[in-house]
Amino acid sequence: MARAIILTVDDDAAVSQAITRDLRARYGDRYRVVQATSGDEALEVLEAMARRDHPVALVVADHRMPEMTGIELLGRSKGPAPGAKRVLLTAYADTDVAIRAINEIGLDHYLMKPWAPPDERLYPVVDELLGRWEDANSFRFDGVRVVGNRWSERSYETRMFLARNHVTYQWLELERDPEAARLQALFGASGELPLVVLPDGTALHGVDVRELASALGLRTTAESTLYDLVVIGAGPAGLAAAVYGASEGLKTAVIDRDAPGGQAAQSARIENYLGFPRGLSGASLSMRAASQARRLGAEMIVARGVEALDVRGSVHTVCFGDGTQIDARAVVVATGVSYRLLDAPGLAEHTGRGVFYGASANDARATEGEDVYIVGAANSAGQAALHLARHARRVTLLVRGDALERSMSQYLVERVRKRSNVDVRLRTGIARGGGEGHLERLVLVDLDSGAEEEVAANWLYVFIGAQPRTDWLGDAIARDERGFILTGPDVALRGRPGPAWPLRRAPLPLETSRPGVFAAGDVRLDSMKRVASAVGEGSSSVSNVHAYLETV
Ligand SMILES: Cc1cc2nc3c(=O)[nH]c(=O)nc-3n(C[C@H](O)[C@H](O)[C@H](O)COP(=O)(O)OP(=O)(O)OC[C@H]3O[C@@H](n4cnc5c(N)ncnc54)[C@H](O)[C@@H]3O)c2cc1C
Repeated sequence: MARAIILTVDDDAAVSQAITRDLRARYGDRYRVVQATSGDEALEVLEAMARRDHPVALVVADHRMPEMTGIELLGRSKGPAPGAKRVLLTAYADTDVAIRAINEIGLDHYLMKPWAPPDERLYPVVDELLGRWEDANSFRFDGVRVVGNRWSERSYETRMFLARNHVTYQWLELERDPEAARLQALFGASGELPLVVLPDGTALHGVDVRELASALGLRTTAESTLYDLVVIGAGPAGLAAAVYGASEGLKTAVIDRDAPGGQAAQSARIENYLGFPRGLSGASLSMRAASQARRLGAEMIVARGVEALDVRGSVHTVCFGDGTQIDARAVVVATGVSYRLLDAPGLAEHTGRGVFYGASANDARATEGEDVYIVGAANSAGQAALHLARHARRVTLLVRGDALERSMSQYLVERVRKRSNVDVRLRTGIARGGGEGHLERLVLVDLDSGAEEEVAANWLYVFIGAQPRTDWLGDAIARDERGFILTGPDVALRGRPGPAWPLRRAPLPLETSRPGVFAAGDVRLDSMKRVASAVGEGSSSVSNVHAYLETV
């Protein structure tokens, strides 16, 4: 936490120097002692601190000052520094005024001038006041703060973006948290939401993720125009390709339309990744992998979606939505898959407002004490159920089939069954959803009898199979009818619509129908859809990139 402020206020230069010197001597290692010479200057300092949410522990003000007395200043200081302790410096003649101020403005103490020796007359009082302040403020938060409405999709996207980029943030709901209203008033109530307040006090109203990424110092544009290797997608496959590419001397950039980590970052606990006997969270895995890639020299570009892939001779051109582009001698496409949308009336308009595709580890707290519904029967749905059940009152897993075992690993089935606040409803679907401004109810349907039941529901998480994120490729690369990318022997064998293999040599393993463009991870046809296999493919794509570069 940043060092809290002790503010001294006195118009008399000698007294001001003396009190500041004595406080610095004892507290300077733990607090920043700041000096003001008038009430107005002191209020300016306090307001600047409030905008940055910088903690103020103590204000020590002389009473007799022209323009604004110490008592008036200490009274007004409650606005910008509500939690600070307040001490008045007085002469003997002002004792009565000081005593009255204890009741009138909640003065914590008054100190008679002179306070020498400080060991006896200053420090015991200030020690006690700072001790009380520290007890009350040990929880203070000094990261990014996000203020918004509970059911706002934009607030949700902002929070997810911060979480996926491993930026610590505090979420303040206007509907529930008085601090949210205070910050909104402080930074302009008419500004667009969400309001994001950075640790240095910069306020951003209604920013999109790209602006937010830049404000946080994350790279959103490429440093160069030509790379040996550009990796599109920074999930496990893309990050592994970036780690191997950069560590093996290729000038490498890895681009993600959102943040590093991919789907794996949504996993509350990955239990089947080699070397982690107790499992590890997806967020932790992706944070380690992203910092490893950066440390080894890969350039990480976030909040930038790739929209097309062109070819110019032996150079591949990676095109962004804003018309900018970068060139690459070789490309690895690792854009993964995304969840299929649930097709029931009344759900689409509540996406992000109670209806979510996939779940992030950060979601659970928002569901505290409430009922949650999950659609899906694969491992991802089981993991989400167990994770959300730590905070939600009750989690109901809605499964179309007649047994969980058909699609979920046995160890997860057993854990789901053991969890007392998780219910499993087999052969159950969703007929429709509804609500004003956010999801409030679901109509469940028994798939055998057709019987319907309406339930109150604020939260629905959907995990129902995946489709590859490859529409942006158009017909640049051969894909199967569902959109998965063909690689290696499949390129020649299947003869799908789309470009044919143009060379006499056979495609390398993981190479697509365009020489020099490789695919790795979930986006590839017949891939295993697991973290370990995505990492394996991403890593081995790089040895094929080397083999390709030797041929051109
Ligand atoms: C909730 C959940 C739990 C899971 N649990 C496990 C588990 O326990 N064990 C396990 O082995 N597997 C698990 N999986 C599966 C595993 O996460 C995936 O198999 C793995 O993440 C695939 O990695 P990938 O790199 O191929 O793709 P992804 O992880 O999907 O990453 C693709 C990346 O590409 C980016 N991208 C997409 N399009 C573009 C574009 N046009 N431009 C730029 N970037 C783009 C995306 O933003 C994304 O970051 C889980 C999945 C989920 C959703």
